[in-house]
Amino acid sequence: MIQLIRGFKDILPGEVELWQEIESIARSLFEDFGFKEIRIPIMERTELFARSIGENTDIVEKEMYTFPDRKGELLTLRPEATASVVRSYIQHKMYADNPVRKFYTIGPMFRRERPQKGRYRQFYQINAEVFGVASPYIDAQLIFMLATLFERLAVTDVKAHINSLGCPQCRPGFKAALLEYMTDRMDRLCSDCKRRSDTNPLRALDCKVPTCREAMSDAPSLLDHLCADCKAHFETVKGSLEKLHVPFEVDKRLVRGLDYYSRTTFEILTGSLGAQSAVAGGGRYDGLVRMLGGPETSAIGFAIGFDRLAEIVGLNRADLEKKPDIFIAALGEAAQELAFDWNCALDIAGIQTETDMAGRSLKSQMKQANRMNAKYVLIVGENEMATGEAVLRNMATKEQVAVPIAGLVEGIKGIFSAM
Ligand code: ATP
Ligand code: MG
Repeated sequence: MIQLIRGFKDILPGEVELWQEIESIARSLFEDFGFKEIRIPIMERTELFARSIGENTDIVEKEMYTFPDRKGELLTLRPEATASVVRSYIQHKMYADNPVRKFYTIGPMFRRERPQKGRYRQFYQINAEVFGVASPYIDAQLIFMLATLFERLAVTDVKAHINSLGCPQCRPGFKAALLEYMTDRMDRLCSDCKRRSDTNPLRALDCKVPTCREAMSDAPSLLDHLCADCKAHFETVKGSLEKLHVPFEVDKRLVRGLDYYSRTTFEILTGSLGAQSAVAGGGRYDGLVRMLGGPETSAIGFAIGFDRLAEIVGLNRADLEKKPDIFIAALGEAAQELAFDWNCALDIAGIQTETDMAGRSLKSQMKQANRMNAKYVLIVGENEMATGEAVLRNMATKEQVAVPIAGLVEGIKGIFSAM
């Protein structure tokens, strides 16, 4: 038997209702905040991700699904959405008539990581991005929207961590101080961090290796190196979050793995998922649009890990499961022919109906109705055909009412609309 690829998964009925509910709550909230959906391709030229995410990141170094197509062009299954949204913003000159744009997108991402709970090779993200707004108020608004989504999804065990990564003016000074700190402790750092000291020393700050964490525990903080503008920006973000009653914690170690971030950066962490504690992450990436060939444009966004979110939502799965409204138990050929017509007419009227199409006994049809958790069973056997009245049985209360066979669909619609 052919099995699915390691790290990939099926989302089956029973689980998928939860995904649909999360998606619909997210869509409606984001649209209330003025975000428009954008749908972007699953594959892009490798160069797009290599340039935007950065050559010296885990994603580009070792996680991307990259392959040459039949003509030898290097393509990559997207590991994240931001690069594509930026590409699209630039390619369609969306900055021209109105540079302020708010987008959201929902879909699969691909990273070749070690599969484990909360970590897959195809996983899903819900993304939101804002272009053209430099003000710190939008940072706070975006985090507020994210916190509201978690609230609407009855997620309780989450905490927002925020930090500022500074800008091209103040980061070099910090990098130098950090490098000096690391150089003094080089022998205590893991081989990845030793290498990072050359390429991307900031990433040593969130290395998960315990000895590195210990060696880095007194590392200099970016917050002490912010220039006046970055400092003022961060103060306004924090003040606005307080006014909006969004609880948060300043986390000076928070750096995140992608190269393109600047200033405000944030992560939503949960205690409910063990090692995979990040449910969402985001931040400002003011330099990216320019770097990919567009005009100087401020930008900020976040990505929610859908798979991890689905694990921690407080929604009741049983309430979301859709059950048939009616199972028609029909006996005899004439009744079955009627049942088939009714089935189609009731389905298109929004009354979800099932029928037995195999001509089974009443007993096995009732069994089938029970297995499917049908709310009502409509019984039409020879007796009912003779009297001209079918029987509608409420499976929960066992109450029964007679429904005339002539004009039955209208009769049922009447009964359902009165409920
Ligand atoms: P992590 O530290 O867990 O590897 P990350 O920093 O690589 O996360 P981002 O690139 O910020 O993750 O992506 C945003 C969110 O997407 C994460 O917070 C997480 O919830 C989710 N995510 C990332 N990688 C995976 C994965 N392999 N499987 C499932 N969800 C993931
Ligand atoms: Mg990762």
